[in-house]
Amino acid sequence: MKNKSMKTYPIQKTEEEWLEQLGPEKYHVLRKKGTERPFTGEYNLHFEDGKYNCGACDAPLFQGDSKFESGCGWPSFDQSIDGAIEYVRDKTLGMIRTEILCANCGSHIGHVFDDGPTETGQRYCVNSVSVAFEK
Ligand SMILES: [Zn+2]
Repeated sequence: MKNKSMKTYPIQKTEEEWLEQLGPEKYHVLRKKGTERPFTGEYNLHFEDGKYNCGACDAPLFQGDSKFESGCGWPSFDQSIDGAIEYVRDKTLGMIRTEILCANCGSHIGHVFDDGPTETGQRYCVNSVSVAFEK
């Protein structure tokens, strides 16, 4: 039987170690697939040159120049850094969505939709607490 939680990532930690490292708020989003409330995140309206790394393991996920203002209330990107993201079909909440995970540690980053307004057509909808900006 296939169990995707059996997948191994380069970064391996126990749930107790993640909770200790991240604290309860980040842990809830990154490890328990939570969603921060819209329009509340630190990076929702943050536009600077730099990159956005995984909030759990610091792997680079998005370049600052792929970020755009989507109006949806969460940081949005029109593409990810090659190979940085794992895509998983998510059928929770009665919808079929594509969940995005950090390919390095398996942490939950957000979802990606194919209704983006830029030429990539992609809208990576990301929790601010799932990423850490670096200049
Ligand atoms: Zn990660």
